[in-house]
Amino acid sequence: MPTLLRAIQSDITKLPVDAIVNAANSSLLGGGGVDGAIHRAAGPDLVHECRLLGGCKTGEAKVTKAYRLPAQFIIHTVGPVWNGGDKGEPELLASCYRKSIALAEERSAASIAFPSISTGVYGYPIESAAQIAIRSVRDSLRTDSSIQEILFCCFSAEDLRLYERLLNGTAR
Ligand code: ADP
Repeated sequence: MPTLLRAIQSDITKLPVDAIVNAANSSLLGGGGVDGAIHRAAGPDLVHECRLLGGCKTGEAKVTKAYRLPAQFIIHTVGPVWNGGDKGEPELLASCYRKSIALAEERSAASIAFPSISTGVYGYPIESAAQIAIRSVRDSLRTDSSIQEILFCCFSAEDLRLYERLLNGTAR
């Protein structure tokens, strides 16, 4: 069955999917934005497990349990800070999506939800980030992928409209 890609507007901590992805920072010890929301909702056991992981490099991803979240596990990935776009940001952002998909497939996840990585405090322009998100998940899926549904979890209505336009392939 082909994997379904869908955009929704939600708080990612509420989603009962197998895997949610966290836009973490390299310490993995929590931060603002979606990272803070995930740590608050998961409870203090999450940071204890994260401490054992020894951080995470930009473009890489690591897995923890999801504790009080309805998801089964959390994939923490560190997006690039936007620095003009010629410092390897596109490749690093694509790597976040690719490695997250690979970890989800390793764990036989059927569903996964991504936030819009790097487009908050890290300042990545939303339109190019969303194009990379969609293209890199499509390109990363194995032919025998366990993943049946990929949700792009948008926090704002504006982000949702953009993702829907890109997913439908409608040119502006
Ligand atoms: P980064 O540091 O990677 O830029 P941020 O957390 O600052 O990460 O922002 C990434 C995206 O996550 C932004 O679009 C932001 O609006 C969104 N976001 C913030 N809180 C949540 C949440 N609870 N659920 C889903 N998305 C969220």
